[in-house]
Amino acid sequence: MSYHDTAKDLVANPKRWLVTGAAGFIGSHLVAELLKLGQTVTALDNLSTGYEKNIDLVAEEAGENGERLTFIEGDIVDLDACRSAVEGVDFILHQAALGSVPRSIDDPLASHRSNVDGFVNMLVAAKDAAVKRFVYASSSSVYGDLADSPKVEARIGAPLSPYAVTKRVNEIYADNFALVYPIQTVGLRYFNVFGPRQDPNGAYAAVIPRWVDEIIQRRESFINGDGETSRDFCYVQNVVQANILAATSPSARGAYNIACGESTTLNELFRMIRESLERIRGETIQIAPTKREFRVGDVRHSLADTSRAQKDLGYAPVVRVDDGIERTVGWFAKFSS
Ligand code: NAD
Repeated sequence: MSYHDTAKDLVANPKRWLVTGAAGFIGSHLVAELLKLGQTVTALDNLSTGYEKNIDLVAEEAGENGERLTFIEGDIVDLDACRSAVEGVDFILHQAALGSVPRSIDDPLASHRSNVDGFVNMLVAAKDAAVKRFVYASSSSVYGDLADSPKVEARIGAPLSPYAVTKRVNEIYADNFALVYPIQTVGLRYFNVFGPRQDPNGAYAAVIPRWVDEIIQRRESFINGDGETSRDFCYVQNVVQANILAATSPSARGAYNIACGESTTLNELFRMIRESLERIRGETIQIAPTKREFRVGDVRHSLADTSRAQKDLGYAPVVRVDDGIERTVGWFAKFSS
């Protein structure tokens, strides 16, 4: 079914959803869309990298539908917190995890606790509460050192970071729970998601919000390596639709690539962001990034084949990279002026 028809169906027959990591970037967009569709939503987050203001904002923007949102401040490492969050829920969209490859290299135990221990807690709570389907955020990092391009789901490589290991372990556990217990699990391998509300601050910020913020503030930006590293950048609205389709499509099983299917180098990305800001501000911006060493754990090229998600989920990226960059830069420019 198309996303349009799925959304119509949900409006007519509202469901109860749990979004974990709801105060974070992707989680808050999921909550916003579900509220827009008149769904009942429980939001769980320990506010470690997310912000309560994201929850307040999406509830406020939803108007009356905001009353269908319950926020629980809790940690998925605590099984009791998971159990109370899953009560009476039809679908789980599990996003809570510590992101960032470098963070996991600096502190593998912290990544393991949230991303593996917390993940298994959520699976146990979900199957004990007879939740219909458990959709979770996996990552393109599971492709690791595999040179194939584009990446197809059936072939993965050796993980290049503790973060990638945690996401691989998630997939193994999720597949196993679907085999052993009466619960359906669907993994979404996100490829470099970006959009409004993505955190530009801190040592572990993702490249797009960091560069947008730096260019707006006219601060120095860095490119790791020669800038010819490429990624399949995916605007957050595409990921939101993928999650809702993964929860509701009858044929969804296993793990799916969720991306745009477009390759963009870091050099191109920097130029796109700068030019987008020039258009918005109506001025010329003379700024270039400084080159520095490649980062340990980074993969050189990453591009997705999304045909499996198209076939099983009806997924189709609705916002292309250039349009997504324009929207993202516009949002940051508005909120930082
Ligand atoms: P984010 O940091 O903005 O959101 C993660 C949220 O999870 C935060 O609000 C954080 O407070 C919460 N959280 C972390 N540990 C928790 C715990 N133990 N208990 C409860 N809440 C906890 O990151 P995001 O970019 O929105 O990522 C969401 C998910 O998508 C993560 O699982 C991430 O690994 C995955 N992912 C993201 C990308 C991307 O490009 N952003 C790519 C691949 C996979």
